[in-house]
Order: sequence, then C-alpha cells, then structure tokens
Amino acid sequence: MLPFKLIYSDQYFLPIGQHVFPAEKYRRIHDQLIEMGVGDPTDFIAPQAASDQDILLVHKPAYVNKLKTGTLSAIEELQMEIPYSPGLANAFWLAAGGSILAAENALKDGVAVNIGGGFHHAFPDHGEGFCMIHDVAVAIRRMQRDSKICTAMIVDCDVHHGNGTAAIFAGTRTQSEPLPSSSSPVVGGKPLMRGTHAGDVFTISLHQENNYPQQKPPSSIDVDLPDGITDDDYLAWLDNALSSGLRHFTPDLICYIAGADPYREDQLGGLSLTIEGLKNRDELVFRVARSKGIPVMVTYAGGYAQRVEDTVTIHCNTVVAAREVFAEV
Ligand SMILES: [Zn+2]
Repeated sequence: MLPFKLIYSDQYFLPIGQHVFPAEKYRRIHDQLIEMGVGDPTDFIAPQAASDQDILLVHKPAYVNKLKTGTLSAIEELQMEIPYSPGLANAFWLAAGGSILAAENALKDGVAVNIGGGFHHAFPDHGEGFCMIHDVAVAIRRMQRDSKICTAMIVDCDVHHGNGTAAIFAGTRTQSEPLPSSSSPVVGGKPLMRGTHAGDVFTISLHQENNYPQQKPPSSIDVDLPDGITDDDYLAWLDNALSSGLRHFTPDLICYIAGADPYREDQLGGLSLTIEGLKNRDELVFRVARSKGIPVMVTYAGGYAQRVEDTVTIHCNTVVAAREVFAEV
C-alpha cells in the first residue's frame, strides 16, 4: 500500500473521438500501476465532480453557462481544439473535483496524485489547447475558500507554457520584490529565465519557447527553454527555477503539473528528455517539496508520445518517484 492516495475515475476518459490527445491514457495508467504492483486498488480514491460554485471560483459565469447549455460558438469550440459535448463537460467537472480531492489529500499525507487534470490552457472566459476547465486553479481557490491554505505555488513542467495559469493568477499579483537578475543565468547571451512577482499564487512554467501558445502571458517565473534541450540541462533549469521561487515565496501547497510531453519522442513537443530524465524531474520536485515540508499535489496534463505506452510509462513513473521519495524514512 502506498503512503499517499491516487485520485482516479474511469469517467476521466475524454469523449473526443480520434484525437492526438490519448483520452484512454488515464485508464491505462490506472491498470498499469496495479499490474506493476506500484499501487493496489485501495490506494485509489474516486472523486466527485466539482460543483458549479467551485468552477465559478475561477471561471466567468457567462462561460460556465455556455458549457452547461452547450452554446459555445463555433470559434470558441475551435479554439478549445476538442469537440464539445455534455459528456466532455462532465469529464472536466470531474477532473476539477479530482484536483480538489488531490489537494485535500496532499495536505494530509504530504503528497497526492490526480491521475488526470493539469488543464493549464483554460482561461476564466474560454477554453484552449484541449483544456476546458482549469482544474488546478479551481482546487487552489477552493482550498483558499475553505481556509485550508493561504498560498500556493504552481510548478508547471508540461512542454507547453501555462498560459491559462498565468492569466488566472496575474490578476491577483501584488507588488513584491522582483527576482534578482543575478539568479537568471544567461545561455548564449539570452536570458532564459524571466521573473515578475507574485501575489497569493506563485506560478513557475518551464516550457519550450518555440511552441504553443504563441502568446505567453507572464508567470511569476518563466523558463523559456530552447529546442532539443536534454536531461541534464533541463534538470539544472528546474533546480534553478525551484530554488529561485522558494527563495522568494513559501507556499502552503505546491501544485506540480507533470506533463509527459517534454519527452524526446513527443509529437507536440520539441524537447529531448528521456523517460529516465522525466522520472528524475519528478523526483527532484518531490525531494525539494519534502525537504521543505511543503505538501505537493500532482496533475498529469499533456503527453503525446508516438507510442501511447511511453506516455503511460512516464505518468506511472511519477507515482513511482513519489513512492521512492515519500516512503523514505
Ligand atoms: Zn502540453
């Protein structure tokens, strides 16, 4: 039995037909974790859908109403890049409920993994890039509303920039000390790390610069990675971003978005991490969180490997890494 919970439902499946997003990955991760003996059935807990009230902590009433009534315009649906259906909306409400449950369990156990979620391209008033509802933002706002946390830090390691995250939390930024330029290493004369300042939610995004989304609204720290970066360089940048962030901000909860798409065989990514490198990445985040005594909740976001089994393995390894770090006495 694991010393933490895995949040999962068969209803996480996204009914989007033939699509580059492997909607069946959630079920396959669940099955593989059991087959590998990493988790047993009692490690999994099933979420309930978030309430409309929870969703409205982040999203605009007009947008939520369109999702509830199936009245998105054709352009809004195109921008979301997944075909709307009431069933799809249900799956996103459930993913948000899963992230709320993961946050609650992380506060109890030190870590919890939502075998889903991480829909970081959703904005308050529209969906984008396969994301309808920003489940992580909903979970943070719900934990704050319940007075379970005051502050949070999002560590987004999906290959794509967390534009929805940056937009949602930009509005709450307050003036604070800017990041010292000395902490922004320079590669090839061009600073890769851009820092602004944080309010109650500090956002870190490590992403490939030459990739979707074209517009990258500022996170608290953005690390604009060059194409083709490999394991060691990536880990150094992550280490750097985490230490810079945690020097300036001590969150009550870390929300780790563990995208599988920095993988070198990803169809929508242009970085060159190996499966082993991605597991080391997960371990690094967990070790830092544990050493600082900050609870961490995990969501999965993207993963578009040519072989779906690679995406599934990368996501399963995140649970293995959490077990290695959090089972240590
Ligand atoms: Zn992605």
